[in-house]
Amino acid sequence: MSSQPHYIDIRVTPEVAHQPEELKTVLARQIGTSVKNLAEFKIIKRSIDARARQIKYQLRIAYFLRDESVIWPEFEEKKYHQVTEAQPRVLVIGSGPAGLFAALKLLEQNLKPVVVERGKDVRARRRDLAKINKEHLVNSESNYCFGEGGAGTYSDGKLYTRSGHKKTIKKILLTFVEHGASEDILVDAHPHIGTNKLPDIITKMRETILDYGGEIHFETKLTDFIIKENHLAGIEVNGESEMYAEACILATGHSARDIFYLLDEKKIQLEFKTFAMGVRVEHPQSLIDQIQYKTPERGVYLPPSAYSLVEQVDNKGVYSFCMCPGGIIAPCATTPGEVVTNGWSPSKRNNPYANSGIVVTIDDEELADFEIYGALKGLKFQEAIEKKCWQLAGETQRVPAQRLQDFISRRKSASIPKNSYQPGTTSVEMDQIFPKAMTKRLREGFKKFAQKMKGFDHPDAVILAPESRTSSPVRIPRDEASLEHPELKGLFPCGEGAGYAGGIISAAIDGERCAEAVSKLLSKTNPGI
Ligand code: FAD
Repeated sequence: MSSQPHYIDIRVTPEVAHQPEELKTVLARQIGTSVKNLAEFKIIKRSIDARARQIKYQLRIAYFLRDESVIWPEFEEKKYHQVTEAQPRVLVIGSGPAGLFAALKLLEQNLKPVVVERGKDVRARRRDLAKINKEHLVNSESNYCFGEGGAGTYSDGKLYTRSGHKKTIKKILLTFVEHGASEDILVDAHPHIGTNKLPDIITKMRETILDYGGEIHFETKLTDFIIKENHLAGIEVNGESEMYAEACILATGHSARDIFYLLDEKKIQLEFKTFAMGVRVEHPQSLIDQIQYKTPERGVYLPPSAYSLVEQVDNKGVYSFCMCPGGIIAPCATTPGEVVTNGWSPSKRNNPYANSGIVVTIDDEELADFEIYGALKGLKFQEAIEKKCWQLAGETQRVPAQRLQDFISRRKSASIPKNSYQPGTTSVEMDQIFPKAMTKRLREGFKKFAQKMKGFDHPDAVILAPESRTSSPVRIPRDEASLEHPELKGLFPCGEGAGYAGGIISAAIDGERCAEAVSKLLSKTNPGI
Protein backbone atom coordinates (compact mmCIF):
# COMPACT_ATOMS: atom_id res chain seq x y z
CA MET A 1 0.00 0.00 0.00
CA SER A 2 1.36 3.40 -0.99
CA SER A 3 2.23 5.84 1.79
CA GLN A 4 3.20 8.53 -0.71
CA PRO A 5 0.46 10.69 -2.20
CA HIS A 6 -0.28 10.55 -5.95
CA TYR A 7 -0.20 13.80 -7.91
CA ILE A 8 -2.33 15.15 -10.75
CA ASP A 9 -2.59 18.51 -12.59
CA ILE A 10 -6.12 19.58 -13.46
CA ARG A 11 -7.83 22.69 -14.87
CA VAL A 12 -11.19 23.61 -13.40
CA THR A 13 -13.59 26.55 -13.42
CA PRO A 14 -13.29 29.08 -10.55
CA GLU A 15 -16.61 27.80 -9.12
CA VAL A 16 -15.31 24.22 -8.92
CA ALA A 17 -11.96 25.35 -7.47
CA HIS A 18 -13.78 26.93 -4.51
CA GLN A 19 -16.26 24.13 -3.77
CA PRO A 20 -14.55 21.08 -2.23
CA GLU A 21 -17.39 18.62 -2.98
CA GLU A 22 -17.60 19.64 -6.63
CA LEU A 23 -13.84 19.58 -6.88
CA LYS A 24 -13.77 16.06 -5.46
CA THR A 25 -16.24 14.89 -8.13
CA VAL A 26 -14.21 16.47 -10.94
CA LEU A 27 -10.98 15.11 -9.45
CA ALA A 28 -12.33 11.55 -9.23
CA ARG A 29 -13.50 11.79 -12.84
CA GLN A 30 -10.09 12.98 -13.99
CA ILE A 31 -8.28 10.22 -12.09
CA GLY A 32 -10.74 7.69 -13.50
CA THR A 33 -12.10 6.49 -10.20
CA SER A 34 -15.21 6.96 -8.05
CA VAL A 35 -15.68 9.65 -5.40
CA LYS A 36 -15.96 6.86 -2.81
CA ASN A 37 -12.56 5.51 -3.82
CA LEU A 38 -10.91 8.87 -3.15
CA ALA A 39 -9.70 8.92 0.48
CA GLU A 40 -8.15 12.39 0.88
CA PHE A 41 -6.81 15.17 -1.32
CA LYS A 42 -5.01 18.52 -0.97
CA ILE A 43 -4.36 21.35 -3.42
CA ILE A 44 -0.62 21.87 -3.42
CA LYS A 45 -0.25 24.47 -6.23
CA ARG A 46 -2.83 26.96 -7.47
CA SER A 47 -2.74 29.56 -10.26
CA ILE A 48 -5.23 31.33 -12.48
CA ASP A 49 -5.12 31.12 -16.26
CA ALA A 50 -7.05 34.13 -17.59
CA ARG A 51 -5.67 33.99 -21.13
CA ALA A 52 -8.64 32.20 -22.71
CA ARG A 53 -12.30 33.38 -22.72
CA GLN A 54 -13.18 30.81 -20.08
CA ILE A 55 -10.99 31.57 -17.04
CA LYS A 56 -9.61 28.44 -15.40
CA TYR A 57 -7.80 27.55 -12.20
CA GLN A 58 -4.75 25.38 -12.78
CA LEU A 59 -4.41 23.05 -9.79
CA ARG A 60 -1.80 20.50 -8.76
CA ILE A 61 -3.47 18.07 -6.40
CA ALA A 62 -2.00 15.40 -4.13
CA TYR A 63 -4.35 12.56 -3.19
CA PHE A 64 -4.67 9.12 -1.60
CA LEU A 65 -7.07 6.38 -2.67
CA ARG A 66 -9.18 4.27 -0.33
CA ASP A 67 -7.20 1.39 1.21
CA GLU A 68 -3.95 3.35 1.04
CA SER A 69 -2.30 4.56 4.27
CA VAL A 70 -2.75 8.30 4.36
CA ILE A 71 0.52 9.85 5.48
CA TRP A 72 0.94 13.47 4.42
CA PRO A 73 4.57 14.63 4.17
CA GLU A 74 5.47 16.54 7.34
CA PHE A 75 6.96 20.01 7.21
CA GLU A 76 10.44 20.04 8.60
CA GLU A 77 10.24 22.05 11.85
CA LYS A 78 12.87 24.66 12.65
CA LYS A 79 15.20 23.63 15.48
CA TYR A 80 16.05 26.76 17.43
CA HIS A 81 18.61 26.51 20.22
CA GLN A 82 18.04 28.03 23.63
CA VAL A 83 20.86 30.55 23.88
CA THR A 84 22.31 32.32 26.92
CA GLU A 85 25.10 34.78 27.63
CA ALA A 86 27.51 31.86 27.12
CA GLN A 87 26.89 31.90 23.36
CA PRO A 88 28.65 34.41 21.08
CA ARG A 89 26.59 37.60 20.61
CA VAL A 90 25.79 38.80 17.11
CA LEU A 91 24.38 42.27 16.52
CA VAL A 92 21.59 42.43 13.97
CA ILE A 93 20.85 46.03 13.00
CA GLY A 94 17.28 46.38 11.74
CA SER A 95 14.25 44.18 12.28
CA GLY A 96 12.98 44.07 8.69
CA PRO A 97 12.62 40.71 6.95
CA ALA A 98 16.41 40.48 6.53
CA GLY A 99 17.07 41.19 10.22
CA LEU A 100 14.30 38.95 11.57
CA PHE A 101 15.23 35.98 9.42
CA ALA A 102 18.91 36.53 10.26
CA ALA A 103 18.04 36.48 13.99
CA LEU A 104 15.99 33.27 13.65
CA LYS A 105 18.78 31.61 11.66
CA LEU A 106 21.34 32.65 14.31
CA LEU A 107 19.24 30.80 16.89
CA GLU A 108 19.36 27.72 14.67
CA GLN A 109 23.16 28.13 14.62
CA ASN A 110 23.39 28.36 18.43
CA LEU A 111 24.34 32.06 18.36
CA LYS A 112 22.73 34.83 20.39
CA PRO A 113 21.02 37.46 18.22
CA VAL A 114 20.91 40.98 19.62
CA VAL A 115 18.49 42.90 17.40
CA VAL A 116 18.76 46.68 17.40
CA GLU A 117 15.81 48.55 15.87
CA ARG A 118 15.47 52.35 15.62
CA GLY A 119 11.67 52.19 15.41
CA LYS A 120 8.89 51.05 17.72
CA ASP A 121 7.14 47.69 18.04
CA VAL A 122 4.37 47.00 15.50
CA ARG A 123 1.49 48.19 17.69
CA ALA A 124 3.07 51.49 18.81
CA ARG A 125 4.18 52.10 15.25
CA ARG A 126 0.58 52.15 14.01
CA ARG A 127 -0.11 55.46 15.78
CA ASP A 128 2.73 57.13 13.89
CA LEU A 129 1.31 55.92 10.57
CA ALA A 130 -2.03 57.51 11.43
CA LYS A 131 -0.22 60.78 12.12
CA ILE A 132 1.37 60.76 8.65
CA ASN A 133 -1.99 60.10 7.00
CA LYS A 134 -4.09 62.53 9.03
CA GLU A 135 -1.74 65.21 10.35
CA HIS A 136 1.03 65.13 7.71
CA LEU A 137 3.57 64.54 10.51
CA VAL A 138 6.49 62.26 9.62
CA ASN A 139 8.42 60.74 12.52
CA SER A 140 11.96 60.03 11.27
CA GLU A 141 12.23 56.95 13.49
CA SER A 142 8.76 55.44 13.12
CA ASN A 143 6.95 55.37 9.79
CA TYR A 144 5.99 53.04 6.92
CA CYS A 145 9.65 52.03 6.50
CA PHE A 146 11.08 52.15 10.04
CA GLY A 147 9.96 50.07 13.00
CA GLU A 148 9.42 46.43 13.89
CA GLY A 149 9.18 44.25 10.79
CA GLY A 150 10.77 46.99 8.65
CA ALA A 151 9.26 48.14 5.38
CA GLY A 152 7.66 44.70 5.07
CA THR A 153 5.22 45.11 8.00
CA TYR A 154 2.69 47.49 6.51
CA SER A 155 3.24 46.28 3.00
CA ASP A 156 1.16 44.23 0.65
CA GLY A 157 3.00 41.15 1.84
CA LYS A 158 3.40 39.81 -1.65
CA LEU A 159 5.70 36.85 -1.21
CA TYR A 160 6.72 36.40 -4.77
CA THR A 161 10.27 36.53 -6.00
CA ARG A 162 12.10 35.61 -9.16
CA SER A 163 15.37 35.11 -7.32
CA GLY A 164 16.23 32.24 -5.01
CA HIS A 165 16.04 28.48 -5.12
CA LYS A 166 12.54 26.93 -4.87
CA LYS A 167 13.49 24.96 -1.76
CA THR A 168 14.94 28.05 -0.03
CA ILE A 169 11.81 30.08 -0.84
CA LYS A 170 9.62 27.27 0.51
CA LYS A 171 11.58 27.31 3.80
CA ILE A 172 11.01 31.06 4.16
CA LEU A 173 7.29 30.62 3.46
CA LEU A 174 7.16 27.81 6.05
CA THR A 175 8.66 30.13 8.66
CA PHE A 176 5.82 32.60 7.95
CA VAL A 177 3.31 29.73 8.31
CA GLU A 178 4.94 28.59 11.60
CA HIS A 179 4.31 32.14 12.84
CA GLY A 180 0.67 32.28 11.85
CA ALA A 181 0.43 32.90 8.07
CA SER A 182 -2.19 30.94 6.16
CA GLU A 183 -0.99 27.71 4.50
CA ASP A 184 -2.43 29.17 1.28
CA ILE A 185 0.90 30.94 0.80
CA LEU A 186 2.49 27.52 0.23
CA VAL A 187 0.00 26.79 -2.53
CA ASP A 188 -0.66 30.01 -4.46
CA ALA A 189 1.53 30.87 -7.45
CA HIS A 190 1.53 34.52 -6.29
CA PRO A 191 1.22 34.29 -2.51
CA HIS A 192 0.47 37.32 -0.39
CA ILE A 193 -0.30 37.91 3.30
CA GLY A 194 -1.86 41.39 3.54
CA THR A 195 -1.17 44.38 5.77
CA ASN A 196 -3.83 43.42 8.32
CA LYS A 197 -2.22 40.02 8.99
CA LEU A 198 1.48 40.91 8.91
CA PRO A 199 1.76 42.66 12.32
CA ASP A 200 0.60 39.53 14.21
CA ILE A 201 3.04 37.35 12.29
CA ILE A 202 5.90 39.76 13.01
CA THR A 203 4.91 39.81 16.71
CA LYS A 204 5.10 35.99 16.84
CA MET A 205 8.55 36.07 15.23
CA ARG A 206 9.66 38.51 17.94
CA GLU A 207 8.27 36.13 20.57
CA THR A 208 10.25 33.22 19.12
CA ILE A 209 13.47 35.26 19.17
CA LEU A 210 12.88 36.31 22.80
CA ASP A 211 11.67 32.86 23.96
CA TYR A 212 14.90 31.28 22.75
CA GLY A 213 17.13 33.81 24.49
CA GLY A 214 17.66 36.44 21.79
CA GLU A 215 17.36 40.16 22.55
CA ILE A 216 15.38 42.88 20.74
CA HIS A 217 15.96 46.56 21.52
CA PHE A 218 13.37 48.98 20.10
CA GLU A 219 13.90 52.73 19.77
CA THR A 220 17.60 51.97 19.65
CA LYS A 221 19.37 53.47 16.68
CA LEU A 222 22.84 52.68 15.41
CA THR A 223 24.56 56.07 15.35
CA ASP A 224 28.21 55.12 14.94
CA PHE A 225 30.52 52.19 14.30
CA ILE A 226 33.26 51.36 16.82
CA ILE A 227 36.21 50.29 14.71
CA LYS A 228 39.47 48.81 15.98
CA GLU A 229 42.16 48.10 13.39
CA ASN A 230 39.82 47.55 10.45
CA HIS A 231 37.60 45.38 12.61
CA LEU A 232 34.10 46.30 13.72
CA ALA A 233 34.18 45.85 17.48
CA GLY A 234 30.76 47.25 18.28
CA ILE A 235 28.33 50.10 17.71
CA GLU A 236 27.26 53.32 19.37
CA VAL A 237 23.49 53.60 19.83
CA ASN A 238 21.31 56.70 20.21
CA GLY A 239 24.52 58.73 20.35
CA GLU A 240 25.04 57.77 23.98
CA SER A 241 25.84 54.11 24.72
CA GLU A 242 27.86 51.28 23.23
CA MET A 243 27.05 47.69 22.35
CA TYR A 244 29.66 45.04 21.61
CA ALA A 245 29.41 41.71 19.81
CA GLU A 246 31.53 39.27 17.84
CA ALA A 247 29.96 40.22 14.49
CA CYS A 248 27.38 42.61 13.12
CA ILE A 249 24.74 42.00 10.42
CA LEU A 250 23.79 45.38 8.97
CA ALA A 251 20.20 45.08 7.65
CA THR A 252 18.99 48.67 7.84
CA GLY A 253 17.04 48.81 4.57
CA HIS A 254 17.44 51.27 1.71
CA SER A 255 15.56 54.13 3.38
CA ALA A 256 18.22 54.44 6.11
CA ARG A 257 20.13 57.18 4.34
CA ASP A 258 21.90 58.17 7.55
CA ILE A 259 23.66 54.79 7.46
CA PHE A 260 24.96 55.41 3.94
CA TYR A 261 26.13 58.88 4.99
CA LEU A 262 27.79 57.48 8.12
CA LEU A 263 29.66 54.81 6.15
CA ASP A 264 30.71 57.39 3.57
CA GLU A 265 31.88 59.80 6.25
CA LYS A 266 33.98 57.05 7.83
CA LYS A 267 35.47 56.29 4.39
CA ILE A 268 34.08 52.76 4.42
CA GLN A 269 33.79 51.57 0.83
CA LEU A 270 30.39 52.00 -0.87
CA GLU A 271 29.33 51.58 -4.51
CA PHE A 272 26.67 53.16 -6.70
CA LYS A 273 23.90 50.70 -7.65
CA THR A 274 21.44 51.13 -10.52
CA PHE A 275 17.86 51.58 -9.43
CA ALA A 276 14.50 52.56 -10.89
CA MET A 277 12.09 55.42 -10.29
CA GLY A 278 8.77 56.66 -11.60
CA VAL A 279 5.18 57.09 -10.50
CA ARG A 280 2.37 55.09 -8.90
CA VAL A 281 -0.64 54.60 -11.18
CA GLU A 282 -4.11 53.90 -9.81
CA HIS A 283 -7.27 52.61 -11.53
CA PRO A 284 -10.65 51.46 -10.31
CA GLN A 285 -10.13 47.75 -9.49
CA SER A 286 -13.31 46.90 -11.45
CA LEU A 287 -11.69 48.32 -14.60
CA ILE A 288 -8.56 46.16 -14.19
CA ASP A 289 -10.80 43.13 -13.57
CA GLN A 290 -12.72 43.84 -16.77
CA ILE A 291 -9.53 44.20 -18.79
CA GLN A 292 -7.81 41.15 -17.35
CA TYR A 293 -10.76 38.78 -16.99
CA LYS A 294 -12.54 40.04 -20.13
CA THR A 295 -15.87 39.96 -18.35
CA PRO A 296 -18.07 42.83 -17.06
CA GLU A 297 -18.16 41.39 -13.50
CA ARG A 298 -15.47 39.45 -11.65
CA GLY A 299 -17.99 37.41 -9.67
CA VAL A 300 -17.36 35.85 -6.27
CA TYR A 301 -14.89 33.14 -7.20
CA LEU A 302 -12.12 35.20 -8.77
CA PRO A 303 -9.67 37.35 -6.79
CA PRO A 304 -9.14 41.05 -7.67
CA SER A 305 -7.02 40.93 -10.77
CA ALA A 306 -3.34 41.89 -11.00
CA TYR A 307 -1.16 42.82 -13.96
CA SER A 308 2.51 42.84 -14.82
CA LEU A 309 3.72 45.06 -17.63
CA VAL A 310 7.07 45.62 -19.27
CA GLU A 311 8.02 47.52 -22.42
CA GLN A 312 11.17 48.89 -24.03
CA VAL A 313 11.44 52.59 -24.86
CA ASP A 314 14.70 53.87 -26.39
CA ASN A 315 16.12 50.42 -25.65
CA LYS A 316 15.46 50.89 -21.93
CA GLY A 317 12.92 49.17 -19.71
CA VAL A 318 9.65 50.67 -18.45
CA TYR A 319 7.86 48.30 -16.14
CA SER A 320 5.22 47.82 -13.48
CA PHE A 321 6.50 47.23 -9.96
CA CYS A 322 4.83 46.07 -6.73
CA MET A 323 1.29 45.90 -8.16
CA CYS A 324 -1.36 45.96 -5.42
CA PRO A 325 -4.84 44.74 -6.42
CA GLY A 326 -7.54 46.07 -4.09
CA GLY A 327 -4.89 48.24 -2.48
CA ILE A 328 -4.05 51.64 -1.04
CA ILE A 329 -1.32 54.10 -1.98
CA ALA A 330 0.67 54.87 1.16
CA PRO A 331 2.75 57.90 2.24
CA CYS A 332 6.19 56.34 2.75
CA ALA A 333 8.43 59.33 3.49
CA THR A 334 11.00 58.74 6.23
CA THR A 335 11.84 62.37 7.05
CA PRO A 336 9.91 65.62 7.01
CA GLY A 337 10.47 67.66 3.85
CA GLU A 338 10.00 64.83 1.37
CA VAL A 339 7.17 62.74 -0.11
CA VAL A 340 7.31 59.12 -1.28
CA THR A 341 4.58 56.78 -2.52
CA ASN A 342 4.31 53.01 -2.28
CA GLY A 343 1.41 50.57 -2.14
CA TRP A 344 -0.12 47.99 0.17
CA SER A 345 -3.26 45.89 0.35
CA PRO A 346 -5.18 43.97 3.00
CA SER A 347 -5.40 40.17 2.86
CA LYS A 348 -8.79 40.29 1.12
CA ARG A 349 -7.62 42.94 -1.34
CA ASN A 350 -11.06 44.46 -1.05
CA ASN A 351 -10.38 48.16 -1.61
CA PRO A 352 -11.96 49.61 -4.76
CA TYR A 353 -8.62 50.60 -6.33
CA ALA A 354 -5.72 48.85 -8.04
CA ASN A 355 -2.30 50.55 -7.87
CA SER A 356 1.15 49.83 -9.16
CA GLY A 357 4.53 51.48 -9.48
CA ILE A 358 5.45 52.26 -13.08
CA VAL A 359 9.18 52.86 -13.21
CA VAL A 360 12.16 53.31 -15.48
CA THR A 361 15.80 52.54 -14.81
CA ILE A 362 17.67 55.70 -13.88
CA ASP A 363 20.70 56.09 -16.06
CA ASP A 364 23.77 58.22 -16.56
CA GLU A 365 21.81 60.95 -18.35
CA GLU A 366 19.59 61.54 -15.30
CA LEU A 367 22.57 61.38 -12.95
CA ALA A 368 24.90 63.70 -14.88
CA ASP A 369 24.44 66.57 -12.40
CA PHE A 370 25.04 64.24 -9.45
CA GLU A 371 28.38 62.69 -10.50
CA ILE A 372 30.23 64.74 -7.87
CA TYR A 373 28.60 62.61 -5.16
CA GLY A 374 30.34 59.43 -6.35
CA ALA A 375 28.80 56.30 -4.84
CA LEU A 376 25.99 58.41 -3.38
CA LYS A 377 24.91 59.99 -6.69
CA GLY A 378 21.74 57.86 -7.00
CA LEU A 379 20.77 58.57 -3.40
CA LYS A 380 21.25 62.32 -3.95
CA PHE A 381 19.08 62.18 -7.10
CA GLN A 382 16.35 60.29 -5.14
CA GLU A 383 16.48 62.89 -2.36
CA ALA A 384 16.24 65.78 -4.83
CA ILE A 385 13.15 64.32 -6.57
CA GLU A 386 11.38 63.54 -3.28
CA LYS A 387 12.03 67.08 -2.04
CA LYS A 388 10.88 68.65 -5.30
CA CYS A 389 7.61 66.67 -5.15
CA TRP A 390 7.10 67.83 -1.56
CA GLN A 391 7.60 71.46 -2.60
CA LEU A 392 5.40 71.26 -5.72
CA ALA A 393 2.51 69.62 -3.87
CA GLY A 394 2.40 72.18 -1.06
CA GLU A 395 5.01 71.16 1.53
CA THR A 396 2.80 68.67 3.36
CA GLN A 397 2.32 64.94 2.75
CA ARG A 398 0.12 65.73 -0.27
CA VAL A 399 1.72 64.42 -3.46
CA PRO A 400 1.78 65.64 -7.07
CA ALA A 401 -0.87 63.93 -9.20
CA GLN A 402 -2.02 64.01 -12.82
CA ARG A 403 -4.66 62.14 -14.77
CA LEU A 404 -2.91 59.55 -16.92
CA GLN A 405 -4.61 60.84 -20.08
CA ASP A 406 -3.44 64.37 -19.28
CA PHE A 407 0.12 63.15 -18.73
CA ILE A 408 0.04 61.39 -22.11
CA SER A 409 -1.40 64.55 -23.76
CA ARG A 410 0.97 66.90 -21.88
CA ARG A 411 -1.61 69.03 -20.09
CA LYS A 412 -2.23 69.92 -16.47
CA SER A 413 -5.22 68.13 -14.93
CA ALA A 414 -8.16 70.43 -14.16
CA SER A 415 -9.19 68.00 -11.43
CA ILE A 416 -7.80 64.84 -9.84
CA PRO A 417 -10.11 61.83 -9.58
CA LYS A 418 -10.92 60.28 -6.21
CA ASN A 419 -8.08 57.99 -5.19
CA SER A 420 -6.80 55.97 -2.23
CA TYR A 421 -3.91 58.21 -1.15
CA GLN A 422 -5.16 59.53 2.20
CA PRO A 423 -3.09 62.71 2.77
CA GLY A 424 -4.38 64.15 -0.53
CA THR A 425 -3.03 65.23 -3.90
CA THR A 426 -2.18 68.45 -5.78
CA SER A 427 -2.50 68.73 -9.55
CA VAL A 428 1.06 68.98 -10.91
CA GLU A 429 2.44 68.13 -14.35
CA MET A 430 4.89 65.23 -14.13
CA ASP A 431 7.04 67.03 -16.72
CA GLN A 432 7.86 69.53 -13.98
CA ILE A 433 9.23 66.80 -11.74
CA PHE A 434 11.40 64.36 -13.64
CA PRO A 435 14.25 64.94 -16.10
CA LYS A 436 13.16 65.12 -19.76
CA ALA A 437 14.44 61.78 -21.04
CA MET A 438 13.00 59.94 -18.06
CA THR A 439 9.57 61.59 -18.50
CA LYS A 440 9.64 60.63 -22.17
CA ARG A 441 10.31 56.98 -21.34
CA LEU A 442 7.47 56.98 -18.82
CA ARG A 443 5.05 58.64 -21.27
CA GLU A 444 5.91 56.31 -24.16
CA GLY A 445 5.75 53.33 -21.80
CA PHE A 446 2.23 54.28 -20.68
CA LYS A 447 1.15 54.61 -24.33
CA LYS A 448 2.41 51.09 -25.02
CA PHE A 449 0.72 49.72 -21.89
CA ALA A 450 -2.57 51.25 -23.05
CA GLN A 451 -2.21 49.42 -26.37
CA LYS A 452 -1.54 46.14 -24.57
CA MET A 453 -4.27 46.54 -21.94
CA LYS A 454 -7.19 48.33 -23.63
CA GLY A 455 -8.62 50.82 -21.14
CA PHE A 456 -5.42 51.25 -19.10
CA ASP A 457 -5.53 54.97 -20.06
CA HIS A 458 -9.09 55.32 -18.71
CA PRO A 459 -10.09 58.95 -17.88
CA ASP A 460 -10.08 58.06 -14.15
CA ALA A 461 -6.61 56.52 -14.18
CA VAL A 462 -4.35 58.78 -12.11
CA ILE A 463 -0.61 58.92 -11.51
CA LEU A 464 1.01 60.04 -8.26
CA ALA A 465 4.67 60.91 -7.73
CA PRO A 466 7.22 59.87 -6.78
CA GLU A 467 7.64 56.09 -6.72
CA SER A 468 11.24 56.49 -5.66
CA ARG A 469 12.11 53.74 -3.16
CA THR A 470 12.06 50.74 -5.48
CA SER A 471 15.47 49.39 -4.53
CA SER A 472 18.71 50.65 -3.04
CA PRO A 473 20.66 53.26 -5.02
CA VAL A 474 23.78 52.23 -3.07
CA ARG A 475 25.57 48.92 -2.59
CA ILE A 476 27.62 48.14 0.50
CA PRO A 477 30.18 45.75 -0.95
CA ARG A 478 30.94 42.35 0.57
CA ASP A 479 33.19 39.45 -0.21
CA GLU A 480 31.30 36.91 -2.33
CA ALA A 481 32.41 33.94 -0.26
CA SER A 482 32.59 35.24 3.32
CA LEU A 483 29.87 37.96 2.92
CA GLU A 484 32.03 40.26 5.06
CA HIS A 485 32.73 43.84 4.02
CA PRO A 486 36.06 43.80 2.10
CA GLU A 487 37.61 46.50 4.33
CA LEU A 488 35.72 46.33 7.60
CA LYS A 489 35.99 42.86 9.11
CA GLY A 490 33.10 41.68 11.27
CA LEU A 491 30.56 43.72 9.28
CA PHE A 492 28.08 41.72 7.19
CA PRO A 493 26.08 44.04 4.85
CA CYS A 494 22.69 42.42 4.40
CA GLY A 495 19.30 42.72 2.71
CA GLU A 496 17.79 45.41 0.56
CA GLY A 497 19.70 48.38 1.96
CA ALA A 498 23.04 46.79 1.25
CA GLY A 499 21.89 46.06 -2.31
CA TYR A 500 21.44 42.27 -2.08
CA ALA A 501 17.67 41.97 -2.07
CA GLY A 502 14.55 43.55 -3.50
CA GLY A 503 11.46 42.48 -1.63
CA ILE A 504 10.42 40.54 1.46
CA ILE A 505 11.42 37.05 0.36
CA SER A 506 14.80 37.94 -1.12
CA ALA A 507 15.59 40.05 1.98
CA ALA A 508 14.65 37.11 4.23
CA ILE A 509 16.82 34.75 2.16
CA ASP A 510 19.75 37.16 2.40
CA GLY A 511 19.24 37.48 6.17
CA GLU A 512 19.57 33.71 6.53
CA ARG A 513 22.65 33.64 4.28
CA CYS A 514 24.38 36.31 6.36
CA ALA A 515 23.59 34.47 9.61
CA GLU A 516 25.11 31.30 8.14
CA ALA A 517 28.18 33.25 7.03
CA VAL A 518 28.58 34.70 10.56
CA SER A 519 28.25 31.20 12.03
CA LYS A 520 30.94 29.91 9.68
CA LEU A 521 33.30 32.69 10.72
CA LEU A 522 32.63 32.34 14.44
CA SER A 523 32.92 28.56 14.45
CA LYS A 524 36.66 29.03 13.75
CA THR A 525 37.15 30.72 17.13
CA ASN A 526 34.24 29.09 19.00
CA PRO A 527 34.42 25.37 18.23
CA GLY A 528 31.46 24.76 20.60
CA ILE A 529 28.80 26.38 18.42
P1 FAD B 1 13.74 46.92 5.77
O1 FAD B 1 12.47 46.18 5.71
O2 FAD B 1 13.77 48.28 5.18
O3 FAD B 1 14.16 46.97 7.29
C1 FAD B 1 15.20 47.76 7.76
C2 FAD B 1 15.00 48.00 9.25
O4 FAD B 1 16.16 48.62 9.77
C3 FAD B 1 13.84 48.94 9.57
O5 FAD B 1 12.99 48.34 10.51
C4 FAD B 1 14.50 50.19 10.12
O6 FAD B 1 13.74 50.83 11.12
C5 FAD B 1 15.78 49.62 10.70
N1 FAD B 1 16.86 50.61 10.77
C6 FAD B 1 17.23 51.51 9.83
N2 FAD B 1 18.26 52.25 10.26
C7 FAD B 1 18.56 51.83 11.51
C8 FAD B 1 19.50 52.22 12.47
N3 FAD B 1 20.38 53.19 12.23
N4 FAD B 1 19.51 51.58 13.66
C9 FAD B 1 18.62 50.59 13.93
N5 FAD B 1 17.69 50.18 13.05
C10 FAD B 1 17.66 50.78 11.84
N6 FAD B 1 8.13 43.74 -0.82
C11 FAD B 1 7.57 42.59 -1.22
O7 FAD B 1 8.29 41.60 -1.45
N7 FAD B 1 6.21 42.48 -1.34
C12 FAD B 1 5.37 43.52 -1.11
O8 FAD B 1 4.17 43.37 -1.24
C13 FAD B 1 5.93 44.75 -0.71
N8 FAD B 1 5.14 45.82 -0.49
C14 FAD B 1 5.69 46.95 0.05
C15 FAD B 1 4.85 47.98 0.45
C16 FAD B 1 5.36 49.10 1.10
C17 FAD B 1 4.42 50.17 1.55
C18 FAD B 1 6.76 49.21 1.31
C19 FAD B 1 7.33 50.42 1.99
C20 FAD B 1 7.61 48.20 0.90
C21 FAD B 1 7.09 47.06 0.27
N9 FAD B 1 7.90 45.99 -0.13
C22 FAD B 1 7.33 44.83 -0.56
C23 FAD B 1 9.36 46.06 -0.01
C24 FAD B 1 9.83 45.28 1.22
O9 FAD B 1 9.13 45.73 2.33
C25 FAD B 1 11.32 45.43 1.37
O10 FAD B 1 11.92 44.93 0.20
C26 FAD B 1 11.86 44.65 2.56
O11 FAD B 1 11.19 45.03 3.73
C27 FAD B 1 13.37 44.86 2.72
O12 FAD B 1 13.78 44.18 3.85
P2 FAD B 1 15.07 44.58 4.70
O13 FAD B 1 15.00 43.79 5.94
O14 FAD B 1 16.27 44.46 3.84
O15 FAD B 1 14.91 46.13 5.04
